[in-house]
Amino acid sequence: MIYFDNSATTSIAPEVVEAMLPYLTVEYGNPSSKYYTLARNAQRAVDESRERVAALIGAKPEEIIFTCGATESNNMIIKGVADYRKYYERRGNHLITSNIEHHAVLNACRYLNGEIYSNHDATFSLGGRGAVVDRGYEVTFLEADPLGRVLPEALDGAIRPETTLVTLMWANNEIGTINDIPALCGAAHRHGVPFHTDATQVSGKLPVDVRQAPVDYMSLSAHKFHGPKGVGAAYIRSDEYGLPPMTAFLHGGGQESGIRAGTLPVHNIVGFGKAAELALARQAEQTKRLKQIDTAARALFADTDMFELLGDPDAHIPGLLSVIVRKDVFDNERFIKKVSGRCAISSGSACTAGEPSHVLQAIGRSDETSRVLRISLSDTSSIEDVKYLVEQLKNL
Ligand code: PMP
Repeated sequence: MIYFDNSATTSIAPEVVEAMLPYLTVEYGNPSSKYYTLARNAQRAVDESRERVAALIGAKPEEIIFTCGATESNNMIIKGVADYRKYYERRGNHLITSNIEHHAVLNACRYLNGEIYSNHDATFSLGGRGAVVDRGYEVTFLEADPLGRVLPEALDGAIRPETTLVTLMWANNEIGTINDIPALCGAAHRHGVPFHTDATQVSGKLPVDVRQAPVDYMSLSAHKFHGPKGVGAAYIRSDEYGLPPMTAFLHGGGQESGIRAGTLPVHNIVGFGKAAELALARQAEQTKRLKQIDTAARALFADTDMFELLGDPDAHIPGLLSVIVRKDVFDNERFIKKVSGRCAISSGSACTAGEPSHVLQAIGRSDETSRVLRISLSDTSSIEDVKYLVEQLKNL
């Protein structure tokens, strides 16, 4: 099977499985228990993983809160910061995001502004129906430009005195465009507004360092870089007093600085830590390899005007190609099914499969939804495999 869907998820590294196994078998202690060896071993393993995840993004270990993945991290940060700043600090009720975010951000914001209460309630068009109930928040959805970028000037103009959080993704999971996070974060900070970024598609793949891009909050997920599914982290910048307060997302026990209750999934956290350690150790080599394969793959698609690549030609996730296929009769889902015995490939984001893409709509390409293929490569992908796919498309 040729795997072209690394943006949906990646294969788990053998070293990660090996590191996890003891915590699925003999080392079954609860890290919140006290005094006996099994519990202490579990606590030590969690501490070590926290250090490894922190090191991956240049953070301090105490700034890492383990979650069940980036969906939870996004929800925790957006709802937790908005609630605390509105109700406990009385700073305001306005949030800013964009129309090109992942649904974990979009729908968290649309919950806050009263548009939706469940995810099935969500239509792909933003702001179509307006608020249904008044939860007391307002959200501005900035419009991405045709390359999928959110521009710092647009953010600057949208910030109001009552703005309490800006949340903008580091890179887009459907078309790969990378936002200028230091500039966007700088714009928010000039107005004294904290900045969150969903870095799910870049962390572990490209260098991400919170000392260089001084974001206040960040979301990441282990399964996007050869770790296990069901574990991720929220990064929260600390100051001299510790973590800034926010409303807890899950109420319960005191785990994870009182912000995220629940018994820690030690095996998953250990796997996440190992994946982070491997990603950091291999980063330079892996980024180089991803850029090489990206250049080679783009050249294959640029060879004929049958294809058009979406997203920013310069600032994009290396190895993520969003391709429009210009054939008289082309239906991406039919094609994906046709080649599914040999290739795993996506028409867009795995999380929105079956729905018209809000990202294509945001960049003005919604009428081409059925012509798009997302090819997401890894550092171990081979260009021969991409050649095979291009041939399949040409010979249709
Ligand atoms: N944000 C982005 C940009 C993503 O690509 C994804 C995964 N598709 C998520 C959030 C959700 O991540 P998780 O699967 O860890 O909940």
